[in-house]
Amino acid sequence: MGLDVTTIANGSTRTHFVSTSTVNWVILQDDRGVTLIDGGYPGHADAVVESLRRVGSAPEEIRGAVLTHAHVDHIGGLARLRRRHSFDVFADPEEVGHARRDYLEQAAPLDIARIAYRPRVMRWLAEIIPLGALDKNGVADALPLHDPGALPGSPVAVPTHGHTHGHSAYVVGGGEVVVTGDALVSGHMISSRLGPQCLDHVFTHDIPANEAAVSSLAALDATVVLPGHGPLLRGRLSTFVDQALPH
Ligand SMILES: [Zn+2]
Repeated sequence: MGLDVTTIANGSTRTHFVSTSTVNWVILQDDRGVTLIDGGYPGHADAVVESLRRVGSAPEEIRGAVLTHAHVDHIGGLARLRRRHSFDVFADPEEVGHARRDYLEQAAPLDIARIAYRPRVMRWLAEIIPLGALDKNGVADALPLHDPGALPGSPVAVPTHGHTHGHSAYVVGGGEVVVTGDALVSGHMISSRLGPQCLDHVFTHDIPANEAAVSSLAALDATVVLPGHGPLLRGRLSTFVDQALPH
């Protein structure tokens, strides 16, 4: 399985951006251990372990995981890893019910069927279905994130509700880096272009709320963006926000 790891060092904290062709996740590492931000599709569980190995860590060093949101491509790998390793999974208080699967706020197969005639969508489906895209499992004991500073890398939650009801971004790396999840991405297998953008509407729960959330990111000082999909971006966040939003 192809995965790429880019490391941003800041003092004693290292932020590792792990990218695959379908989705990305992030490893925060300091002398306390590691925090995962998201964990790919269910079929990525072994790739998450491999990514930890590449940064000189191991699943036993996971002190907790935080979710940007509970879509299957972000929670699935974590749900599967927890069958083998014990660690807590945290989310924005508004996202906890989704993570626990009290409800599912995800594009329904019918929504996807409507766009499946597009060649990119067909290729994407052929890749994600074997990764467990139809798996509906969540994390039944997911917890609200109240004290993220206690976790390795001390992520700072930035509520960015819209893509899902309780989507959250995280500022990490001493403020230099923002993990934007699916609020602001830089590409996707079904998108024809690379660069800052909002995800296809089919994936977004509340489009105006997501656009407002993306706007709010422009105020951050971070100069590195780690999106849920697409490559790492370096530059001014306000420029990326401007490029992503419709005019
Ligand atoms: Zn999503």
